[in-house]
Amino acid sequence: ISERLKELQSLPAMTLDGVNIGLYVNTGLVADVNSSLEIGCDGVGLHRTELPFMIRDRFPGEEEQVRLYRELLQAYAPRVVTLRTLDIGGDKMLSYFPIADEYPLLGWRGIRVMLDHPEIFMTQLRAMLRADLGLGNLQIMFPMISRLEEAEEAVQLVQRARKQLREDGMTVNNPKLGAMIEVPAAVYQAESLANRLDFLSIGSNDLAQYLLAVDRNNPRVAALYDELHPAVLRAVNSVAEVGCQANVPVCVCGEMAANPGIAPLLLAMRVNALSMSRASLLRVKWVIRSFSFSEAKELLGQALSMEYPEEVRALVRNALEGKG
Ligand code: PEP
Ligand code: MG
Repeated sequence: ISERLKELQSLPAMTLDGVNIGLYVNTGLVADVNSSLEIGCDGVGLHRTELPFMIRDRFPGEEEQVRLYRELLQAYAPRVVTLRTLDIGGDKMLSYFPIADEYPLLGWRGIRVMLDHPEIFMTQLRAMLRADLGLGNLQIMFPMISRLEEAEEAVQLVQRARKQLREDGMTVNNPKLGAMIEVPAAVYQAESLANRLDFLSIGSNDLAQYLLAVDRNNPRVAALYDELHPAVLRAVNSVAEVGCQANVPVCVCGEMAANPGIAPLLLAMRVNALSMSRASLLRVKWVIRSFSFSEAKELLGQALSMEYPEEVRALVRNALEGKG
């Protein structure tokens, strides 16, 4: 199969009847850029900026961050690179920034921490904007949005950072800004978020965790964590519908995007892009190229009418097996 996958590298992620979907990679620590470009990715759909912060013993300063981000932006240019603002707390802690919540997954994490510490946030935003000078392939996205006010405040802080840099004489770009949809509240406010931002990105890992009330890292309940749970599929579908209606691109950047069985369903929802680890990309591309859009649409209709995760699992398994 690997020989077959290799042939796919230069081919587009297009269905048999000509419908395209963007395929992006998730990155964190300095990634193997060449091999990502070789397999024909469209850019970076999620760069987890907290990973370089986690391996240090203090916050990297603005200059150091400019170097980190610029290296990435340059390597992928002209393809877009989506830098996610610092997403600490929950399952991602920094040794030098203690957060002692009794329930970390429901606590101080993601955008909440950044809005409470605008000095940390502004340093990162300025570094991102400076890294993009003369390039123009930067997108910025905000994690763990659960209230419109958070998205609005984050957008304002980006504009403030741009103004500061302009006052310092720089010709700053105006990057596209996006909200992650990974808290159930954001699913129900997707339309309002779409009206305020340039794109939405579904973080299916956290979204499934919060919809199902299952901590994936707790072995006692890990089996209940299920991306094919009808509630998860319907939530993702409703965000995709909002995106289509508002004409705002929607990406899926959680593990769901890397699941070859789910790819035809996401395609049929008219999700614009999937972002995943490099290792999964060719397999997902192969699946996309094996289906027609109408076939995928049919499959989605069946999946959305199902009441049990096991039914959906059997459906997608059969559909994939039918493709060899
Ligand atoms: C997600 O929650 O799906 C996501 C992409 O972000 P992370 O896994 O970094 O929380
Ligand atoms: Mg997340």
